[in-house]
Amino acid sequence: MSRSVLVTGGNRGIGLAIAQAFAEAGDKVAITSRSGEVPEALAKYDVLAVRCDIDDAAQVDAAFGEVESKHGAVEVLVANAGITKDTLLLRMTEEDFTSVVDTNLTGAFRVVKRASKLMMRARKGRVVLISSVVGLSGSPGQANYAASKAGLVGFARSLARELGPRNITVNVVAPGFVDTDMTAVLSDERRKEIVAGVPLGRYAAPSEIATTVRFLASDEAAYITGAVIPVDGGLGMGH
Ligand code: NDP
Repeated sequence: MSRSVLVTGGNRGIGLAIAQAFAEAGDKVAITSRSGEVPEALAKYDVLAVRCDIDDAAQVDAAFGEVESKHGAVEVLVANAGITKDTLLLRMTEEDFTSVVDTNLTGAFRVVKRASKLMMRARKGRVVLISSVVGLSGSPGQANYAASKAGLVGFARSLARELGPRNITVNVVAPGFVDTDMTAVLSDERRKEIVAGVPLGRYAAPSEIATTVRFLASDEAAYITGAVIPVDGGLGMGH
């Protein structure tokens, strides 16, 4: 069965791999990004690319309107878009903090709220939020990012309770370090330190996050809600 799937930040990195996984399974996939371009890797699929800055509720509303008119109401929402602005606390400006929380946490609020209305009416829906191992373990230099990612857990669990009676599941995937533009900025030295702490001894490929997201949106995962699923090579064990 082909579903209407929306992946925020689906033009590159983890979001791109997620969009690809759903497109390969035959779903109707829409992606959002600030450029609205279709990436090369998705050119062979009939993917709808929509320009949308998730910091802006009016753009979110317009993007959903476009997806709904072409693919129907969103049945699977993956809130993946996110940013980092890493620096130590004493150097972190209020803008560094609030802008990361605005995109990563309030951005998820904007898209989930917009999607939930029609999901509630349909009495079914799947929401997957992309958090991070860092939201559970903390990370020096990432107080803003970790706070935003931890916030997603409380957000998701509240919604799992609120929307569960309407047959809508809300889950969180907490990746470890994944090879994308976001981690490409880390020095070789920092990368070696990180890998040394990962039991599986490597970064994840984006596709390894995508398979878990697709599972959470599948019929097989119908009884999973409010869960935080680590896909981190063992890095965050115990959290
Ligand atoms: P990338 O930096 O490769 O991609 C980020 C994506 O988010 C882009 O598609 C970008 O779109 C989109 N985005 C950022 N800000 C906005 C905005 N204001 N409005 C709309 N879209 C926006 O990151 P990753 O693929 O690595 O990360 C994806 C998610 O996974 C993030 O939430 C990240 O925090 C999380 N994550 C990543 C890990 C990693 O190791 N890479 C580990 C754990 C979690 P645009 O092209 O328009 O900028």
